[in-house]
Amino acid sequence: MAKVFNWQINREMDYWYKGVRPERQFGAIFDINKCIACQTCTVACKTTWTGGRGQEYMFWNNVESKPYGFYPMMWDVKILDMLGTKEWSGNSYKGKTIFESAPVNERVLGWRPTDFDYAYPNIGEDEVSKSVESGAFFTGKHAAWMFYLARICNHCTYPGCLASCPRAAIYKRKEDGIVLVNQQNCRGYQECVKACPYKKVFYNAVEGVSQKCIACYPLVEKGGQPRRFLSCIGKIRMQGWISTPDKVREDNPLDYLVHIRKAAVPLLPQLGLEPNVYYIPPIHVADEFLFQLFGPNAKKAVETYLKAREDKTLAGIFTLLGSTQQTVSYFKVIGDTVAGFDDKRKEIVRVPIKEPVVKRVAFDSKLQVGRHNIT
Ligand code: SF4
Ligand code: SF4
Repeated sequence: MAKVFNWQINREMDYWYKGVRPERQFGAIFDINKCIACQTCTVACKTTWTGGRGQEYMFWNNVESKPYGFYPMMWDVKILDMLGTKEWSGNSYKGKTIFESAPVNERVLGWRPTDFDYAYPNIGEDEVSKSVESGAFFTGKHAAWMFYLARICNHCTYPGCLASCPRAAIYKRKEDGIVLVNQQNCRGYQECVKACPYKKVFYNAVEGVSQKCIACYPLVEKGGQPRRFLSCIGKIRMQGWISTPDKVREDNPLDYLVHIRKAAVPLLPQLGLEPNVYYIPPIHVADEFLFQLFGPNAKKAVETYLKAREDKTLAGIFTLLGSTQQTVSYFKVIGDTVAGFDDKRKEIVRVPIKEPVVKRVAFDSKLQVGRHNIT
């Protein structure tokens, strides 16, 4: 095992390969508070990439209701149980990662789902954290809660799937950090399916190979955002580039949200993969649950998010989510608008930070017409 530095757990850790970071790293922001579980992203991804034989059960993108939704069944509960006690001291993780807890003669701690585990992708949908008694009413505090968690492959910095493959068929592209399975080299041993704690590699029994999210790289290579980002009804998503803490760019929207304002946090950082999808945590959920799912900075991220309406830069970035089909590499607040720029610093989008509201009278005396929709 090599020693690598994982900034999300603020320490060195063991990994199967020496850490070589890509020239730049594909990353994403998901604002959980805006997701309505319409599953448009799921369908967009399904119809684009997994319509083939052997792929029927695959959802490279899925959206599950927490706390009782899972795909596959209990994916997070199982790996957290296997990992055991998870202790943090401030921002430093003191417990073991899935690489450091690997059983003898194995590279990664993991488990392989059965057909049954994949059979109910909508299980727990819209179920709240506890039963609501008859006659209960809203008290201003959410005693019972639920939220929608959209999930894709995290294109991890230290992928469990890549570490586990005995044929080195999984690789991380040096130009963008996207993690892919080489279909020619794969022999279908399914070690990656077992090792990915997020369960985002799938076995295709017809083809005899493992398959996974490719981050729509043909689009990303052309400066566009992936399909399920473009189709998102709630405009919860933004794809971009995430830097390490020592190379933060203040005009990079992802760096600004993750590193500077710490408003977005990774999913299960304690597992040790340095996942590259960052979530704005839900504002109404028990602190303990958020801590377990998003690590020690989740509560602070919620507090920062709640103040965004008084903060032009923060509000500006949130306005950029879902505002363009292209990748926003740079952003700038200009007066009451926010502008996004591509890699060559060409302006690709500009939106008002505060949407103007136009009120129209119900009866227009000039045109002598009545209007039903007056906002
Ligand atoms: S989320 Fe899973 S499949 Fe994706 S890179 Fe990480 S370990 Fe591999
Ligand atoms: S399309 Fe957007 S809003 Fe709809 S479920 Fe997917 S992430 Fe959520």
